[in-house]
Amino acid sequence: KIKVPLRIKIFMWFVHKEVILTKDNLVKRRWVGSSRCCFCDQNETIKHLFLDCPLAKLLWRKIHIAFNVTPPISIDTLFGTWLT
Ligand SMILES: [Zn+2]
Repeated sequence: KIKVPLRIKIFMWFVHKEVILTKDNLVKRRWVGSSRCCFCDQNETIKHLFLDCPLAKLLWRKIHIAFNVTPPISIDTLFGTWLT
C-alpha cells in the first residue's frame, strides 16, 4: 500500500522473521555481554530498536517528513502496514 524502496521492505521482512540478531536474542543464546542499546541505556530489543529508542523516534520523524510515512505505534502495525 505504501510505496517504500524494495530493499527496505526486504530488510523489514528479515526483521519480522527475527533473522537479525539483536543483543536481546544473543543473550538468549547465552551471550554474556551487555544487552544495553548502543544509543541509550535501555535493553535492546527489536521493539526498542525500531520504536522505543530515542534514536528510532528521531529517525521516524525524519522518515515522516521525507516520505510522509506515519510512524508506527507498535511492531504489529509497523509490519502490518508495510508488508501486506
Ligand atoms: Zn536505545
